Amino acid sequence: MKEIFSNKDTFKGAFIAALDHLFNKNIENASLYERYATLAHLLDKKLAEDYNKTTNYVKENNLKKTIYFSMEFLIGRLITSNLMNSGYAPIVQAAFNDFGYDLNEIEQVEADAGLGNGGLGRLAACFLDSAASVALPLYGNSLRYEKGFFVQKIENNKQVEYPDNWLNNPFIWEERKDAEAVYIPFYGYVEYTVLKNPVWVKAVPYDVKVVGANNEVVTHLRLWKAEPTSLHYNHDEWYLNMVSKINESLYPDDSKEAGKYLRLQQQYLFSAAGIKSAINEHKALGRSVKDLAKYYTFQINDTHPTLIIPELMRILMDEEHLGYDEAWQIVNETCAYTNHTILAEALEKWNVDIFRNLLPRIYEIVEEMNRRFVRMLQEKSYAENKINEMKLIGNNSVRMANICIYGSYSVNGVAALHTEILKNIELNDFYQLYPNKFNNKTNGITHRRWLLHINPELVKIIDKLIGTEWQKDLSLVKALENYATDTKVQKQIKSMKLAKKRALIQKIKEDTGVELNEKAIFDIQIKRLHEYKRQLLNVLNIIYVYLRLKSDKNFKKNFHAQNFIFGAKAAPSYVMAKDIIELINKVSHIINNDPETNDLLKVVFVSNYNVSYAEFLFPAADISEQISTASKEASGTGNMKFMLNGAVTVGTLDGANVEIAELAGMNNEIIFGLTAEEVTNIYKANNYNPRAIYEQDQRLQDVFAFIRTLGDNEHYFDNVLNNLLNKDYFLVLADFASYVEAQEKANKLYQDEQTWYKMSIMNIANAGFFSSDRTISQYNADIWHLKEIKF
Ligand SMILES: *Cc1c(COP(=O)(O)O)cnc(C)c1O
Repeated sequence: MKEIFSNKDTFKGAFIAALDHLFNKNIENASLYERYATLAHLLDKKLAEDYNKTTNYVKENNLKKTIYFSMEFLIGRLITSNLMNSGYAPIVQAAFNDFGYDLNEIEQVEADAGLGNGGLGRLAACFLDSAASVALPLYGNSLRYEKGFFVQKIENNKQVEYPDNWLNNPFIWEERKDAEAVYIPFYGYVEYTVLKNPVWVKAVPYDVKVVGANNEVVTHLRLWKAEPTSLHYNHDEWYLNMVSKINESLYPDDSKEAGKYLRLQQQYLFSAAGIKSAINEHKALGRSVKDLAKYYTFQINDTHPTLIIPELMRILMDEEHLGYDEAWQIVNETCAYTNHTILAEALEKWNVDIFRNLLPRIYEIVEEMNRRFVRMLQEKSYAENKINEMKLIGNNSVRMANICIYGSYSVNGVAALHTEILKNIELNDFYQLYPNKFNNKTNGITHRRWLLHINPELVKIIDKLIGTEWQKDLSLVKALENYATDTKVQKQIKSMKLAKKRALIQKIKEDTGVELNEKAIFDIQIKRLHEYKRQLLNVLNIIYVYLRLKSDKNFKKNFHAQNFIFGAKAAPSYVMAKDIIELINKVSHIINNDPETNDLLKVVFVSNYNVSYAEFLFPAADISEQISTASKEASGTGNMKFMLNGAVTVGTLDGANVEIAELAGMNNEIIFGLTAEEVTNIYKANNYNPRAIYEQDQRLQDVFAFIRTLGDNEHYFDNVLNNLLNKDYFLVLADFASYVEAQEKANKLYQDEQTWYKMSIMNIANAGFFSSDRTISQYNADIWHLKEIKF
């Protein structure tokens, strides 16, 4: 294999041979898919050498590992990042040029691995890339979902969900490892700590290689698949159906009880299998389980993998025969927890009956943990109401976050503001109890995918100005600041944006038929559809602008053309979110077809927003919409991708927006709205009156009146409008005036090119902090303490 990728000619020879061998085809008659699959096969085989080298190094040097447990890994396509990180992209490019192949077109054949639905899963994917790139032995652990998060289509203005059968073609980057299968029990009953008569399921790992950038480090993401096993005597329909459901899909519908069992079963399967395989490895290397913490940290990404805590207790006590206290100490030195949720009421909990039925021994252990935790609080003289809030089981629920905080040695938030809110408000009781566990790790993104791969035009500009070292260490991009007011550089940024806009315009034309004006401001809001993210606030302003363009000649004269672009999936059962998608689409048809405003205003909703679509959208943006209700967005990472590609944030002081504005400078973003503190005070005062705001603002009345005309009858969007008037929990109306002002300011600033591109350059130059290489290095320095892989 070694020689295949060493130069263009050896690669060409190997490619021709493999194409013939795999598909019995030649360069001319191979289909796009066959070209893709041949390339992927060759590359994966080549990467196996570095993978083996890395595995051996970690083993021989007895390196500690982090196992990163996450329900989601939104990795997207792997072909391009694997080619780039391995350093073979130029050779393949040159060979394909000779063949007359378009590498870009071939890469797009790969299906997105949609093993996640949003920011949390994308963060986990960025962490894999960064950990391998900074040469740390970190390994991902999750489930091998047969269907990704649904494929979204817009029909009749509404979201319709279709299954995402991403595994229809073989996933070339995975390797099934039968020899490392483990067995996981469900149901049964407990007799003297022994689980009797359980239903056994076999869990088989599929390892996907994770390639470090230019360092020959290759780790893996381990995805578990459930299968029937002969350990279970009766392969009846119930059993086979139960087993087959476990891997069927990500976040199955849990509105009914069967769905709840299924989700908990998924969580236990990948948690228990991940722990079991780590312990198998640990023991095979001749180490004592008493030394587990020296060799592993199990990082719990949000609460879905919480069960690793009681599961590890079970193994240490029931299988390794340690006493409770000794086992607990090991668990407490091995597990670390990342919190992603601010709302206490959104913290994950499980009905006790479901939990106990499905996992009887695990439930017993959680009960014992709870008993001891409560006793400790009592000894510290905690008041009963405090204890009731903090205990691990309460109100007939098992509280996953409480288990995580109690069982972990580290609890981290994901942005500075988020961690402060956790410490001072949402988890204050736990912070008082365990001040040393709490720490902040502001999220990051891998600049390899989110700049080097998706925006070579910008890379070229930066390289020319400051050299190429910044590609390895993104903090060095700071040197770009010296050119912020250089009009020649500003012009280059402007033409980079134009090139990226043209690519996006073409894609949107193909997908939606809408033709966007390349001279317009590209104003983009792409993220999951959620009320707290306030896509609705964006729509209200768009309608206001539209009505004003039609009624105010002076406003129209001074208005710079603006394209508003949305991309968002709504959870299938989230009615309000789906109503908002419908509203955006209805509004877009009316606005896009109005000849009075047509050249100035366009609204597009792109369907099926995912990683591959994101790669087109981020680089084309002038304005990054980050308009969540302050205090509600833990961090955000989309905000960082926009910043790195030179967009200016129109945003609230929420999540990592706070740090973005601090680093780039407040005057290089457009900040508006209530602060987190003001929001908290409004909730506390409990006297918010959105209807009063509406009644005093003619603009809102006009916008609401327009929305009422959109449906077949005047009650069409009542759900949305009444909610705003009567409740408006996310304070849309409270921030409306301030947002309109911010938007007007943005439109005006854009017309002053020298100011605008200075702002844009200041954003790029100060995005270095948001590299996930930095985030991972901080996790390692403060939490994991892994040694680097140094060949
Ligand atoms: C970055 C990213 C997200 C997260 O976006 P936020 O604005 O932080 O919510 C979600 N989905 C995809 C596909 C992404 O690339």
